Amino acid sequence: MKLINSREADDLIFESLCQVEAIDLPLLNCAGKILRENIHADRPFPPFNRAMMDGYAIRSIDLSTVAAFDIIAELPAGAPPVEIGNISGGCIEIMTGAVVPSDSDCIIPYELTNKLDNGQVALKNSDQHNSGDFIHTVGSDQAEGTLLLEKGSVLGSREIAIAATCGHVHLKVSKMPSITIVSTGDELVDIKQIPLAHQIRRSNDVAIVAALCRSHINVKESVHLPDDLEAVQSQLQRVIQQSDFVIISGGISMGNKDYVPAVLDTMNLEKKIHGVAQKPGKPFGFWSSESTAIFALPGNPLSALVCLHRYVLPALRVALGQSQVKPSKVLLVTDIEPNDRLTRFLPVKFLSTGYVALLPPQNSGDFVSILGADGFIELQPSNRKIEVKGGEPVNYYAWL
Ligand code: AMP
Ligand code: MG
Repeated sequence: MKLINSREADDLIFESLCQVEAIDLPLLNCAGKILRENIHADRPFPPFNRAMMDGYAIRSIDLSTVAAFDIIAELPAGAPPVEIGNISGGCIEIMTGAVVPSDSDCIIPYELTNKLDNGQVALKNSDQHNSGDFIHTVGSDQAEGTLLLEKGSVLGSREIAIAATCGHVHLKVSKMPSITIVSTGDELVDIKQIPLAHQIRRSNDVAIVAALCRSHINVKESVHLPDDLEAVQSQLQRVIQQSDFVIISGGISMGNKDYVPAVLDTMNLEKKIHGVAQKPGKPFGFWSSESTAIFALPGNPLSALVCLHRYVLPALRVALGQSQVKPSKVLLVTDIEPNDRLTRFLPVKFLSTGYVALLPPQNSGDFVSILGADGFIELQPSNRKIEVKGGEPVNYYAWL
């Protein structure tokens, strides 16, 4: 098995990926989707001089001469604008969100006033108000036409709010691709079953579904295959024909019953990767055709999770049109001995200082200890004496 390194694996995956189709969806169905159009401000933000407090709109020039202001009109939010007019010492009783009268330049909040019985309002401290107070000036946040949301943004509550305020009833977003999860192994039984002494319950398939679900990606079908050549052949043939992406776990190493690689090699697919110089996850593989990309993860639950987060999720994000898929960087508190052959993925936990500390598993089959970890870091092979000096930034992937 010829091993490549993790960066070469990235290149081979990304050069094979096609972006999924874009579709129009009602705004309310767009949460978690990837935006495929740019959204510009259709009006200035805010669209008019907006009152920021409930109180009185006055002319600041009157502050030095007027002891009590005449209340000329009441102006709630949603009412068409009014003006103070020619009356010296006049004011408009105004509510938050109303259009500030064009001849007013200052809002005095209720709490800084005393309302009198004669239709007037007195200010508690006339000398503490200034022109511009509590007026959210038209266009002061964003000018009309400004690019507010870029193609490739993930649509969360803030982005949906911006799209709504700009009048987008529908948005152009990435279509959900058809994704099939395949687990393999004679020793694996369904969660509902009581395993016999030589069996264990399946967990990789549901873990993969869960991580995709947390990325707002749906799975079309989940199948389990026995370690049987014919079953692997016929079922892989079927799911590959019917899917845009297939994510397999198990059956890809050197064991006598690891049929997956040989079966994939007989199909009309290009083998891009089988074996990466990394720990865990060395047997990781990737095959593709024009219509389907197939990720083959090792069965070991920790390896499967690492390869899923390191390779599959970033690839799916790119295929779905998401921008900014580069891993984030973290700082490590300790130095680590080098390994000059393998890329290592090591579970870490955030410390209150913003640094991360290593949380190594007991052994490669231990996937309970990672419950305490927030994610894992990636260390490239190195023959430097001390590979990562405490405080040097390294790539980080958060567990989903
Ligand atoms: P394999 O890659 O098929 O050789 O499997 C390696 C190890 O991972 C074995 O101990 C399997 O029992 C375990 N394993 C494989 N698939 C799963 C799965 N879906 N859920 C939990 N463990 C699995
Ligand atoms: Mg197996």
